[in-house]
Amino acid sequence: MFKAFLIKYAEIGIKGKNRYLFEEALVDQIRFALKKVEGEFKVHRTQGRIYVDALSEFDFDETVQRLQKVFGISGICPVVYVEDEGFEKLGKDVVEFIDKVYPDKSKTFKVQARRARKNYPMDSMEINCELGGVILDAYPEMKVDVHKPDIELNVEIREKIYIYSEIIPGPGGMPVGTNGKAMLLLSGGIDSPVAGYMISKRGVKIDAVYFHAPPYTSDRAKEKVVDLARYVSAYSGPMKLHIVNFTDIQLYIYEKCPHDELTIIMRRFMMKIAERIAGESGCLGLITGESIGQVASQTMQSLAATNEVCTLPVYRPLIGFDKQEIVEISEKIDTYETSVLPYEDCCTIFVAKHPVTKPNVNVIKAHERNLEEKIDEMVEVALNTREILDIE
Ligand code: ATP
Ligand code: MG
Repeated sequence: MFKAFLIKYAEIGIKGKNRYLFEEALVDQIRFALKKVEGEFKVHRTQGRIYVDALSEFDFDETVQRLQKVFGISGICPVVYVEDEGFEKLGKDVVEFIDKVYPDKSKTFKVQARRARKNYPMDSMEINCELGGVILDAYPEMKVDVHKPDIELNVEIREKIYIYSEIIPGPGGMPVGTNGKAMLLLSGGIDSPVAGYMISKRGVKIDAVYFHAPPYTSDRAKEKVVDLARYVSAYSGPMKLHIVNFTDIQLYIYEKCPHDELTIIMRRFMMKIAERIAGESGCLGLITGESIGQVASQTMQSLAATNEVCTLPVYRPLIGFDKQEIVEISEKIDTYETSVLPYEDCCTIFVAKHPVTKPNVNVIKAHERNLEEKIDEMVEVALNTREILDIE
């Protein structure tokens, strides 16, 4: 029965003069998201509102699911629109709407009319009262409650008349593309896809980089990361996934540096390489899934040592989260099941039994001098031989 959606957006409504930019970005993102849904849609902006009109048959559930992944949307209201053929007809339409949407009539309600077209012969108050009366006549078991109604029946008088009552929650946040771009260090774990999701939610477009170490990490591990990138891109939009072959660098570090510092030194080179790719792609920051104290390489000392190589800001949206809190988000965004597939990632093979938990940057730097001979060239090779995938 529904042929349209009214899109509610919260935060972007308060951006003053820039408001239209945010609205336009949201319209673009909605259009993009709906391209993948069967059916033809028109997305338009009228008087501070965004509507999605279905111009053909469409799959309601699929459409709602897609819209629930468009950042910037706070609510999705399925709308019925009817022609303006006089008040009596409107009364019939409203009664029919209630009957279809609420088979159980033991409910309280309130009518909330809005007259966007001022030449309509009744004002909002009159419409509220009269329609309320019509509904009570049709369904005497219903009751009016103006404070906390079960059903808030919205009636908007425009060229056509829009009727809606339900608000399906959207993902919140800000439209992707309104806040620059950042580079996500995406591993096959639980954390980094969630980190990407969270930064993207603030309107940031993302690209991703994965450090692959064949044959120590399998093709399946790489496929898993590609799948995770796809899940994240359902929210963040299309992204480039850079797959860097890290094997030689890893082996070289293994050969030349103390094994208990391996993870930290590797992490520092990952950051350096990610920063280079970020620079080439116009990214203004790096994103990781780190959280204080989660593992040896994420103590305050380790984070400081890793951070020391970066000049771009490193965004760590999970820094204060417990694992369980991260797991809950990963379940919500559908990445959990893929993340827990048991394919070894880059680090598990080279982890020392007793990695340093309090690395000293100066000591680390001294040991990195053992790499002087070949490392710069190896970094260039890794950059130049990287594979770049377009993820949609
Ligand atoms: P995740 O669940 O995201 O893998 P983790 O708890 O396993 O995180 P680490 O392995 O210590 O944590 O990695 C910390 C962060 O470093 C990751 O969240 C990710 O951003 C980045 N990272 C680690 N390994 C890789 C990799 N192979 N490729 C790209 N980024 C990586
Ligand atoms: Mg990991």
